[in-house]
Amino acid sequence: MEKDLEIGFKKILQGNREWMDFVKNDTTGRFQQLAKGQNPEILWIGCADSRVPANEITGTKPGEVFVHRNIANMCVHSDMSMLSVLDYAVNVLKVKQIIIAGHYGCGGVAASLSRNQFGIIDNWLCHIKDVYRLHATEIDAIEDHDKKVDRLIELNVQEQVFNLCTTSIIQNAWKDRNDLAVHGMVINIGTGELTDLDCTFTSNEDLGDVFSYR
Ligand SMILES: [Zn+2]
Repeated sequence: MEKDLEIGFKKILQGNREWMDFVKNDTTGRFQQLAKGQNPEILWIGCADSRVPANEITGTKPGEVFVHRNIANMCVHSDMSMLSVLDYAVNVLKVKQIIIAGHYGCGGVAASLSRNQFGIIDNWLCHIKDVYRLHATEIDAIEDHDKKVDRLIELNVQEQVFNLCTTSIIQNAWKDRNDLAVHGMVINIGTGELTDLDCTFTSNEDLGDVFSYR
């Protein structure tokens, strides 16, 4: 193995030894409990970006958050990976809170506002361009490019919350229970702050006729 590669790989194994020591010295018994199964109350759908790890940002521990991440925290109706995670989280784990978390400075959203090609990801980014199209008047009125990107990041989270709520999985869950909320939030990496975008849904009442199933 090349030297740099070897050092990087060893660092991971060394890090794991430290984690093993931590687990070994824990006297609460929670890791033995976790080894038997999980019972998280939260599903986190976040960006794949390395700077936005769900547990560290929310002060939660292993076992507390079920996580799905992809580029730009998208909820695409036909994405079987996302839908499978969602179905398991809602119908088997019975999570109560779903958080869709974007982050300022998101490279995926920034790329969607350019005319450049990046490869196969262009087809994924097109879903964000669709969000831009819905809000083009507002975005175009912002002069500063970084502020344009940041506003689209917020609007993208709001649209992904809406997308998630319109899935059959969430709507069918709401038929049986009133303790499931879907929230949209945004992370400021520089300050660590997680801001609630105040676009929470707890039923399909406000989705509009065409989008809400009977
Ligand atoms: Zn991102």
